[in-house]
Amino acid sequence: MKNLVSNNEMNNKSPSRHEFELTLFGNGYGECVLLHVCDNKWIIIDSCINPWTKKIAPIEYLESVGVDASKQVKLLVISHWHDDHIEGFSRIYQLCINAKLALSQAMHQREFFRFINVVHQRPIYSYAGKSTDEIKQILDTMLNRKEISGEYKCKWVSNDSILYNEKIETKGSDAKIVALSPLDHSITTALVEISNLIPKANTQIRVNSSINPNHFAIVLWISIGDIHILLGSDLEERAHPKGAWSVIANNGTRPNDMADIFKVPHHGSQNAYCNLVYEKMLTDNHLSLLTPFTHGKVALPNHSDIKRLKEKKCSGLYLACRVSSKKNRHDAVVEKILKESTKSRETLNSFGYITLRKNVLDGKDDWQIITYGNATKL
Ligand SMILES: [Zn+2]
Repeated sequence: MKNLVSNNEMNNKSPSRHEFELTLFGNGYGECVLLHVCDNKWIIIDSCINPWTKKIAPIEYLESVGVDASKQVKLLVISHWHDDHIEGFSRIYQLCINAKLALSQAMHQREFFRFINVVHQRPIYSYAGKSTDEIKQILDTMLNRKEISGEYKCKWVSNDSILYNEKIETKGSDAKIVALSPLDHSITTALVEISNLIPKANTQIRVNSSINPNHFAIVLWISIGDIHILLGSDLEERAHPKGAWSVIANNGTRPNDMADIFKVPHHGSQNAYCNLVYEKMLTDNHLSLLTPFTHGKVALPNHSDIKRLKEKKCSGLYLACRVSSKKNRHDAVVEKILKESTKSRETLNSFGYITLRKNVLDGKDDWQIITYGNATKL
């Protein structure tokens, strides 16, 4: 496979109607995937902010290529409700009035809605963070829209759910998106965990959250004609006693093609690694993409993660943004402010994205690869 790699300014031209495009954004503490699934139809999965412009990364990108997000974005997916995947999503949901919203089935439960209400009515509870603020706003918008249209435009997702299925007009084949998770086991576990978070009536017990939204993250399989993509979200192996990724790889009902593109799960962490995925789900010359995660003492991917990923057969491994390990020197006042900041200082100035583009009509193998900002090949 011959790949054409270039680095560009953020003034791309829009892909043509028959070019598939995937863009992975990262800022060191955020991840988002933007897809052009041909015919000027777009899909946004998760959300993050460009720290340089303070704009929501996928919306900024769509504006830069002249796409009207309110008309052309057809599907929004919240893969899971962690802060690093959801910042700015409530604004995306407000803007993209033509899009269906897909959420993990684990959110579709009385316990979840009660939990959100509890968090917002009684802010002493420790789990009240950015992600619950975003979800609360999204639910408010959903309720308002239902008042106007009479309809909830949302999709509750579990293993085998079909999120999108449209004919590609110029090619005659299908653009299809299927969820490979959350697994039933994980949904049940999430319900039990969420139930445990709800305080008993008339108590002031502080909630210590043990819930891990990574366990019911939505993993997606995307087929655009002959192109296949596996987006791993943040799903960890321990989401299932037999290994969540092992269960997915061995699932006989999933699409049985091999993926050309792999968004590595959970920022390349060891706890999301499964060799069966490489053996059963990916071509030997696939392109691997990932975003870093830096927060407090945690920095992913670490050196051994990168080493492990580089040992795998693939035609390229790309990181959405390089995060400098060198700490900038500041005076004492600035150091104090930075320490009090919720984000690690290293993440504040990092941003980048990788765009993969391919014409679905001309049967060639080549991908056009565009890197922007701090994106890099590993
Ligand atoms: Zn994450």
